[in-house]
Amino acid sequence: MPDKNESLREIRINPIVPSESVLVATARNMRPRKQEDPAPRDTRKHVEQCPFCKGNEDETPPTINAWPDDENWEIRIVENLYPILGEDQQSDGLTFGLQQAIEGYGRHEVVIDHGEHGIALQDMTPVHIQQMFITYQERMQILYDSDKRIHYVLAFKNFGPAAGASIAHTHSQIIAMPVIPENVYNEVQNSREYYNKHHRCVFCSLIDEALTYEATIYDRDSGQVQRKINVGQYVIERSEHFIAIKPFASRYEWEIHIMPLDHQADFLEASTDHLADFAGLLKRTMQRLDTVIGGAQYNYFIHAIPHGEDYEDSHSSYHWHLEICPRTSIPNGFELGSGLFVNTVSPEVAAEKLRAVKLDEASGTA
Ligand code: AMP
Ligand code: ZN
Ligand code: ZN
Repeated sequence: MPDKNESLREIRINPIVPSESVLVATARNMRPRKQEDPAPRDTRKHVEQCPFCKGNEDETPPTINAWPDDENWEIRIVENLYPILGEDQQSDGLTFGLQQAIEGYGRHEVVIDHGEHGIALQDMTPVHIQQMFITYQERMQILYDSDKRIHYVLAFKNFGPAAGASIAHTHSQIIAMPVIPENVYNEVQNSREYYNKHHRCVFCSLIDEALTYEATIYDRDSGQVQRKINVGQYVIERSEHFIAIKPFASRYEWEIHIMPLDHQADFLEASTDHLADFAGLLKRTMQRLDTVIGGAQYNYFIHAIPHGEDYEDSHSSYHWHLEICPRTSIPNGFELGSGLFVNTVSPEVAAEKLRAVKLDEASGTA
């Protein structure tokens, strides 16, 4: 096993989508990457001018859904005032020659995650976080059922300006799309291929591997032991029904994935009880991140099996999960031009630091 302090410079292949790879380069002599400053957190409970704060409900489109109810809402869904996809639009003449386009039909909604303006996820109660994910489920189901042109419903969160959030009030978004996003499509296709070859879900295999203590990597040509990996090192925390894992080929320094331990393709099938367990693990994971990197700016998104006939045969091979991507640096020209993400923190070291956080010492434990 390599010394954890040894510098790494290796291209790691994403085990789910092998065409995607990441350059893990932790050499001490490497030019330091420009780090984003931690976001100056807006921790105010109420902001008079904020359109998502209580009392300003008339500054947003009408409530679509609220929990626990319209008047005393703690979670509220509204239509996005500036949707990136919307109702039907005439788009005659969009397509010519090689330039093909499909209508930007869809729905774009904002979930105001909490009544309190600046509350961080790790400071919300587990019951509240559970309810956020139940709210996503309910809304996603309705959007899938509403129109057969909807092929994917993506739920995601931007937190902090470095993660693209233009409003400080804690919020997430749900976008119903007429296409399957490429990232989901690639995962679904590749995991189907893996399944056809190995008769197993690749995500379940990765979980098993992560929970196994040790793996030995042999050199293909000589058969010599190349190195031993303590694969348990990718586990950040395991709860009753879920696991938080540091991906081996993490694109982002502090990227973490949470997935159900038992095979499940569709997030919409996660039970309320399981979501309670999930919420606890997510809260603790965000506490760990907050302790290690402080004031994380991040995106998270749910990847789940798309609905529709074309995907019915992928339920055994695909496994839903939440990807949390803390944004500690801005992708540079090399990354955009090559499609190769550069990660300057070894995933093994990052996982060890996150796992080592003593949760009762972390801020905001409730
Ligand atoms: P973000 O994309 O993270 O900046 O999320 C904020 C979203 O809220 C943006 O997509 C905006 O289009 C949307 N938005 C901004 N102001 C309002 C408003 N008053 N009512 C509803 N949505 C809004
Ligand atoms: Zn607010
Ligand atoms: Zn699985």
